[in-house]
Amino acid sequence: MQQRTAEILCVGTELLMGGTVNTNATEIAKELAGLGINLYHSSVVGDNPERLAEAVKLALSRADILITTGGLGPTYDDLTKETVAACFGKKLVLHPECLEEIKAYFARAHRTMTPTNEKQAWLPEGCTVLPNPNGTAPGCVIEAGDKLAAILPGPPREMRAMLKNGLVPLLTQKGQRLVSHELHFYGIGESELEYRLHDLMVQSQNPTIAPYAGTGEVKLRVTARVAEEEDAEALLRPVMEQILAAAGEYCYGVDVPDLQTAAVKLLREKGLTAATAESCTGGLVASRLTEVPGASAVFGCGIVSYNNQVKTDILGVDPAVIREYTAVSAETAAAMAEAVRRKAGAEIGIGVTGNAGPAASEGQPVGLVFVAVASERYSHVSRMFIDRQDEDARGLIRHLAALKALSLLRKAAEKY
Ligand code: AMP
Ligand code: MG
Repeated sequence: MQQRTAEILCVGTELLMGGTVNTNATEIAKELAGLGINLYHSSVVGDNPERLAEAVKLALSRADILITTGGLGPTYDDLTKETVAACFGKKLVLHPECLEEIKAYFARAHRTMTPTNEKQAWLPEGCTVLPNPNGTAPGCVIEAGDKLAAILPGPPREMRAMLKNGLVPLLTQKGQRLVSHELHFYGIGESELEYRLHDLMVQSQNPTIAPYAGTGEVKLRVTARVAEEEDAEALLRPVMEQILAAAGEYCYGVDVPDLQTAAVKLLREKGLTAATAESCTGGLVASRLTEVPGASAVFGCGIVSYNNQVKTDILGVDPAVIREYTAVSAETAAAMAEAVRRKAGAEIGIGVTGNAGPAASEGQPVGLVFVAVASERYSHVSRMFIDRQDEDARGLIRHLAALKALSLLRKAAEKY
């Protein structure tokens, strides 16, 4: 299957000066990925005709599709159309219907049209016009041989509308698509996952397998390149099965946004409820769970028991446990999980206790966390030690503790 390549060229001195963030490049790149068009270069050039022509020629020498943004305004420094047209050996000609559109735009906006705006109706001969519903400057597509250049305006609102409504449908007609699935992993590092999947990742060309490391999580995106969307699953399925055979015990979901969504989904499917008792995470686990629409069906009680008196008097942890083992201990975490489970009448209880800093307390170092799950089918305490002393440590410790809690919750639900 023929693969197409594209190149993005954003035109504007303001982009080079750092005054404008190049959001256009990002948005175009995302659309290209969705279309299955390879993007190998994306660059920026100032409003200078020689350097612009040089950049256009270079792009057309190595890519099938050139997409430019910017430089379509009515003023003297807006040169993109004429420069790209010249690189294709084409002149600009007046498009009367574009002139009418521009006049109508000004009439709608109750603004007076200046003669310089007429310049915007001059487009490369033989081009396909891309209408601009949000502004005056139309865009266009020039095709010659196997090369295609799309010229889009600079203002993001205008560029976006033209990209989605004009260019993407045009490129879709001419090409193939990318279809992908995302497999989400917790409890396995990126290097371990790559080690297990190395041969498969190297051999697999269609679909491709790409890892993305997050904080405490890893995602694998499996992407098939197909002419018709309905052909994708037949390519994707066998590769996904091989991935799951190698590391499925760490996979918490396919095409799910996050661990909390996976946990809530499973609890709902099994008709289970959960409750949380949190110390160092201060309600973060409860917060993550309640981010998920429909969480109320599975979660009704989260207690933040930050000090020991709340752990004993409100939650119902035996004071002797805390006295004997300290608040940051496997025993206290387990007691918290069991206590909140009983208090809420839930099937599964979660207990989190630890020291997120800034200083050691009761002899326990910063970064030591215990996460417990309690249920009739599965009870477990995880000891985590996140050995970081920098200013982000506190947030990281809390984040990783919450992930562990959500993972244990999901694991407990699996046992039902
Ligand atoms: P132009 O079409 O070059 O006159 O650009 C008009 C305006 O669009 C500029 O002043 C910028 O504010 C904005 N703009 C141009 N290029 C980009 C870009 N690549 N990303 C985001 N904004 C842009
Ligand atoms: Mg400009």
